Amino acid sequence: MSRVLIIGAGGVGAVVAFKCASVPEVFTDIMLASRRKAKCDKIAQTIGGNRIQTAQVDADNVEEVVALIQGFKPDLLINVALPYQDLTLMEACLRTKVNYLDTANYEPRDVAKFEYSWQWAFRQRYQDAGILAVLGCGFDPGVSGVYTAYAAKHYFDEMHYLDIVDCNAGDHGKAFATNFNPEINIREITQKGRYYQDGQWIETLPMEIHKGVKYPNIGERESYLMYHEELESLTKNYPTLKRARFWMTFGPKYLNVLNVLQEVGMTSIKPINYEGKEIVPLQFLKAVLPEPSTLGAGYKGETSIGCQIRGIKDGKDRTYYVWNNCDHAKVFQECGAQAVSYTTGVPAMIGAMMVLTGKWNGVGVKNVEEFDPDPFMEKLNQYGLPWNEQIDQALPIEQ
Ligand code: NDP
Repeated sequence: MSRVLIIGAGGVGAVVAFKCASVPEVFTDIMLASRRKAKCDKIAQTIGGNRIQTAQVDADNVEEVVALIQGFKPDLLINVALPYQDLTLMEACLRTKVNYLDTANYEPRDVAKFEYSWQWAFRQRYQDAGILAVLGCGFDPGVSGVYTAYAAKHYFDEMHYLDIVDCNAGDHGKAFATNFNPEINIREITQKGRYYQDGQWIETLPMEIHKGVKYPNIGERESYLMYHEELESLTKNYPTLKRARFWMTFGPKYLNVLNVLQEVGMTSIKPINYEGKEIVPLQFLKAVLPEPSTLGAGYKGETSIGCQIRGIKDGKDRTYYVWNNCDHAKVFQECGAQAVSYTTGVPAMIGAMMVLTGKWNGVGVKNVEEFDPDPFMEKLNQYGLPWNEQIDQALPIEQ
């Protein structure tokens, strides 16, 4: 018997709630809380069966979250609100001695910069309180770290080269929309690129490095080197890595619209004065773009996300590619979502299940690759994100 509190009723929150509700043997009591209770109620109603309790909460306010936790008494809090709320939610969990899990690392609102330092700073206090925080348990970060841990455990003595490849070959039919929170998404992709090589971080201009990469069942797609947060923890946890990179696909139309928006100043996070009121252009842009949770209907095509790794096993060169393809239309049929919300929400549910069933345990603040990957990999197959692997074949990223 366990109680879980989900914070954030967006695209990802809806999937987490749906998936937790479908596993009553683990998640006996579920509460979904968000900034707007009406959104939680709508999700709870769609799921039905009186499985989900709902509440309103401002996750920026520690006292409010503490009061909510004290009322509901969860065993674990799943944070699928925005990265801005990570620190307040971690603080609330600390004060109430409740385990914590999220899918994205903290970002300050006024600087488009994400890194683990702020959350890793909670380590000692979580250890002293005897509770556990699992960081970055979506797909990437999340499954990308579990895949890497699985490769390290079963296939390599030393991993040398890691490429995380993320393709969305889907078409939602909208002129322009982002697949997860528009503000967070646009902040991420307009930043400079960065990758790890021989102990150093090499910075690139945004979208400067790109190449065609062949994705299983999809074909070749132009893939752009970006900085992504799991590179920070994976290069620390696997010090034999000589190089670690992250690639994501973007279509020419998407990039074109994004360029225009950037050039006219709509992606800026610097507040401006508009008719006597201070507004942030990117937040205004978010308000006029479709919400990620509404993109599912009519979305066609697949995502394909995986890890391509080169290293050594028993003194010989080894290559390994592990990936999942996820079909937008199938996801919509199952739970009304699109594949990007689904590929984030399912791993968050599985991570919660790992903690609540004691498969992942310990105290402190940990990234997903620090746990045993095997039970998680097994559940990916069971709960909708089956994976495939190729051993000792040419890696698509290198062709
Ligand atoms: P959405 O914008 O659809 O949902 C975010 C939700 O959080 C909304 O319901 C929003 O409320 C709520 N929220 C925002 N601020 C607060 C607050 N102060 N208090 C309470 N609730 C709040 O985003 P997504 O569902 O697409 O993304 C959710 C998270 O998942 C993000 O952090 C994103 O970065 C992460 N993510 C991780 C991925 C991974 O693979 N690791 C991939 C994709 C996303 P309201 O509806 O009122 O605006």
